[in-house]
Amino acid sequence: MQSQTVETDIVVIGGGLAGVGAAVAAARLGRTVALVNNRPVLGGNSSSEVRVWVCGATAHGNQRWARETGIIGEMYVENQYRNPEGNPIYWDDVVLDTVRREPNIHLFLNTDVREVAASGPDEARHIESVTGWTMGSEILTTFVAPLVIDCTGDGLVGHLAGARYRLGKEARSEFGEEWAPEEARREFLGSTLLFYTQDAGYPVKYVPPESAIDITTTPIPATRIIRSGDTGAHYWWIEWGGELDIVSDNERIRDELRGFILGIWDYIKNSGQFDADNLTLEWIGNLPGKREYRRFIGDHTLTQNEIIEQTSFPDTIAFGGWSIDLHPAAGMYHPGAAAKQRFSDGVFEIPFRSLYSVNATNMLMAGRDFSATHIAFGASRVMATCAAMGQAAGTAAALCVDLGVTPRELGRNHTPLLQQTLLRHDAPVLGVDNHDPLDLSRTAHVTVSSASTVIGVEPNDLGTDVLPYPLTTDLGIVLPVDPRLESIELLVRADHATTLAVEVWSTGKLQNVIPVNLEATSAVDLEPTDRPTWIRADAPFDPSRPQNAIVVLRANSDVTVFTTTPLPPGVLILVHGQDADDANVDITAGQQLLEWPTKPLRGRSVCFTASPESRALAPEQTTSGYQRPYGGPNMWASANLREGHDEWLRLDWDDPVRAREIRIVFDDDVDLELNTLHHHRSPNEIIPELVKAYRLEVLPAAAGSVWTIVAQENDNRWRQRVHPLQGDRYLRAVRLVVTESNGARQARVVQLRVQA
Ligand SMILES: Cc1cc2nc3c(=O)[nH]c(=O)nc-3n(C[C@H](O)[C@H](O)[C@H](O)COP(=O)(O)OP(=O)(O)OC[C@H]3O[C@@H](n4cnc5c(N)ncnc54)[C@H](O)[C@@H]3O)c2cc1C
Repeated sequence: MQSQTVETDIVVIGGGLAGVGAAVAAARLGRTVALVNNRPVLGGNSSSEVRVWVCGATAHGNQRWARETGIIGEMYVENQYRNPEGNPIYWDDVVLDTVRREPNIHLFLNTDVREVAASGPDEARHIESVTGWTMGSEILTTFVAPLVIDCTGDGLVGHLAGARYRLGKEARSEFGEEWAPEEARREFLGSTLLFYTQDAGYPVKYVPPESAIDITTTPIPATRIIRSGDTGAHYWWIEWGGELDIVSDNERIRDELRGFILGIWDYIKNSGQFDADNLTLEWIGNLPGKREYRRFIGDHTLTQNEIIEQTSFPDTIAFGGWSIDLHPAAGMYHPGAAAKQRFSDGVFEIPFRSLYSVNATNMLMAGRDFSATHIAFGASRVMATCAAMGQAAGTAAALCVDLGVTPRELGRNHTPLLQQTLLRHDAPVLGVDNHDPLDLSRTAHVTVSSASTVIGVEPNDLGTDVLPYPLTTDLGIVLPVDPRLESIELLVRADHATTLAVEVWSTGKLQNVIPVNLEATSAVDLEPTDRPTWIRADAPFDPSRPQNAIVVLRANSDVTVFTTTPLPPGVLILVHGQDADDANVDITAGQQLLEWPTKPLRGRSVCFTASPESRALAPEQTTSGYQRPYGGPNMWASANLREGHDEWLRLDWDDPVRAREIRIVFDDDVDLELNTLHHHRSPNEIIPELVKAYRLEVLPAAAGSVWTIVAQENDNRWRQRVHPLQGDRYLRAVRLVVTESNGARQARVVQLRVQA
């Protein structure tokens, strides 16, 4: 046995996606980090040891333009490229590579932290060190760091340090939460084991072991949907332990869950009700995936009302979009639905004050142990949201070390610095615009080779993929309005003389994409035609600031509209009508978000163009403003790319600037839902909207200088590219030249930052 002490700037305990996000963020800011995980594999519940698929703000495609960017965004996109089938083992390595790539991270796997040295009075605890035992190597390591981030999920480190926390459900009166019980209860979301099956190609028998639970003696066959083809996280509802103590009863919970899975498998194989002769059990998890335990108390506790009302926080640092998704404490034995869910109308914000302890002065937390009520935790617990919190906590910890301040002091005095640092690293933050003093592009003159000025599909661009779409249900065309909208042209066919009703709706909040306020109505008389005809409909909307509008075409059984691919930048199509339910879930009725899904026409556009010309895709979008869709696409899109013709974006300064690096953010279609495992398969391994081939040129300030290529890439498949500059860094101009995309018609650039 050996003992050692490891000193770093930051120690992150827990290598789930929150911990990975935190460690990578801090390391990229130049801070040394010890990342300590008590299991041999990173990824927490998403790892191949547990196999929960990674969801986030897109909420299985229900929220719009909501996919996370930043560290989790990179991992999503990388996984899509390496692992489109969703193999959990391949995902493990996407996560591991992301961590190993950072030289500032010292990774300690198999190292269980079980001792914490902390001092100070109850209202100001200070963590001096944490100590972990590495299984297999017999090494006892004491980690010493000025900042500690508890990403253990269960919150053991903070607990041992004396940080305050909550367990179970708050009483309704405490935060005025409609979904909270009348009285506080020590009940949790339960834990789960998952299993994988495989078709062996020949009959395989199954003799249930003695520990298998006979599920025909339980309500399960009547209350839950069991399908022989389902596997892995489809069985999320195999959940138990919510009425016990999730941690101290962990062994008992595992045994029950395992016996239950063996019983379900016996039922599938031997009841005669399923086509399962050739199926065999390929894998069963042995580590219960834990949903809920301690939630630390921060300076702010996120609540149900803040999620549903989508409260805007001055210290916003991440966002979520999953529904408030709560499960009965009795889990799989509950006779009713396995979950009840309610969405906010769009994505919701998470404040920094929820990411540091109210009384442990040098402790941050991220992931499922952050500061929220039980109800709010129900929406923020999904892993991409946890990873976004992790990136924020890691960034904050790095800044705390830089400035020599506590997390609370950082929040009180340096929130803009935290937000701008997050934005510079393309983290998923909402409603924060670029006013980074270190971004020199903000003072540059921007010119481009061309820009898309017409929103929609120009008639000349219609290819062969044009399909009729009978207007049997209301359709919504979501489009950016900058500065105003007057009319739209539509390709239609009418079977009989009729009147098409057209409405313009605004969306309420800038991040929302549902019709909220009726702004204008018009009617277009149509004569019967036997071929598609372009018609014009008034659609007046002159908002006080750029924002999205939804042009609703009311259902008319005499009218056919036409759809085409690809979807133009900044546009989405909503189809009125309830989306298909998951039969195991009780979803609150009457939610606009679900009544206007994008899924039925995902990737297709109605054939339309909007007038007048728009600034929504103008080049200035790349040097200011938001870095993700928020009241508009917030990117530059060129005219259509042509072979042998470059599209470029150029920055010029009146006086030379001294630059350190250039950061480019390309569009990677954040509306596209990605998932790490087998939830669904997205069609493209490389996101077509991404720029494929580009070069970056600079014009040095020295007299007589000529354009110099500082980076050239022919196979780009990432959203954010960072190019450090060498040598003389005084520049007069920068030019980004795009020669090819991965499939999109235009060159699309979200941000071009020239950092001092
Ligand atoms: C069955 C199930 C289904 C779910 N469904 C979904 C879903 O579909 N999509 C989704 O995104 N989310 C889902 N969730 C929620 C999600 O998995 C969790 O909220 C999320 O994993 C929390 O991330 P985390 O990083 O905070 O914690 P975790 O993923 O729990 O990771 C914590 C890490 O810390 C390590 N650790 C713990 N204690 C110590 C210690 N003392 N020392 C060192 N290391 C320690 C653990 O080994 C683990 O690696 C589900 C959860 C469960 C259990």
